[in-house]
Amino acid sequence: MGEFELIRHFFAAAPCAQGGDGVALGIGDDCALLALPAGQQLAVSTDTLVAGVHFPDPADPLLLGQRALAVAASDLAAMGASPLGFTLALTLPSVAEGWLQPFAEGLNRMARQCGLSLIGGDTTRGPLSLTVTVFGAVPAGQALLRSGAQPGDLLCVGGVLGDAAGALPLVLGQAQAPAAVAGPLLAHYWSPPPQFGLGQALRGRATAAMDISDGLLADCGHIASASRVALALQLEALPLSPALLAFCGHHGAQNAALTGGDDYVLVFSLPRQHLASLQADGWPVHVVGQVAVGQGVSLLDGAGRDITPAVRGYQHFRETP
Ligand code: ADP
Ligand code: MG
Repeated sequence: MGEFELIRHFFAAAPCAQGGDGVALGIGDDCALLALPAGQQLAVSTDTLVAGVHFPDPADPLLLGQRALAVAASDLAAMGASPLGFTLALTLPSVAEGWLQPFAEGLNRMARQCGLSLIGGDTTRGPLSLTVTVFGAVPAGQALLRSGAQPGDLLCVGGVLGDAAGALPLVLGQAQAPAAVAGPLLAHYWSPPPQFGLGQALRGRATAAMDISDGLLADCGHIASASRVALALQLEALPLSPALLAFCGHHGAQNAALTGGDDYVLVFSLPRQHLASLQADGWPVHVVGQVAVGQGVSLLDGAGRDITPAVRGYQHFRETP
């Protein structure tokens, strides 16, 4: 099977590539065309997943297809954008149909879950790597930026933290756990649901937002510096799942939530008056801290003592001391 046959069979003919709202032209020409409703801005984000760096190699191709799109789509959700489409740049060591079929199936499932259409891509030969670029629409001026947090705001997250980081030993085959524990943790690692609904509900309410990919402490650092404020996190307020607590214990679970990463849960600053209405509408909003005058991120224990750790999260290219 050659390049063009591969593209046609696995991607152009896929259910998620048959167009949708906002897609004026999909796969097949030199560019796709997106039609943006009047008064909307285009939100764009790219994520690359490299075999052996961002996922174990070999990995289940269906799960990989789901995860590649989910982690990219999470950035759209974090801006408060509505989903439009995505492109897929695929580098493959060989054309293995037994790999491509389930990979495309995983991509389709997540595309359907998110309401995203596959609108183009690129296919090359080389070590396995996936680059997904996502496109969304957001009313002009209403995107959720990292830069608007105000002293006095609450600091909130959109769900339990640490499940994906906790799952890592299971993903890598270094540990085992009963299905009731492993199931939810692995599901969060392989298929983190992008929080589109919450992101859109936060428009006009949250003053700053982002999705947690590198760990709560590290990502809060981005909001603190972009907004020029101090963020104080309460250790005892971190929402932790029963599965994570069972697998890692209390201390391990807190550690996974603070520094683990791969959550793809939204973290946002919220003026106090909006908390009750968001929770009444059923959005999973957990208060984990406060915004204050100052700079940086601190972690406080139940007694209000500063217990901020030195290592905050994962960074590529960081030099080890
Ligand atoms: P060009 O040479 O003009 O960049 P290509 O031959 O690379 O075009 O691709 C042909 C068409 O197939 C384009 O519309 C491109 O977006 C699409 N395409 C290529 N690879 C993929 C892929 N992996 N998934 C989805 N669409 C793809
Ligand atoms: Mg090309």
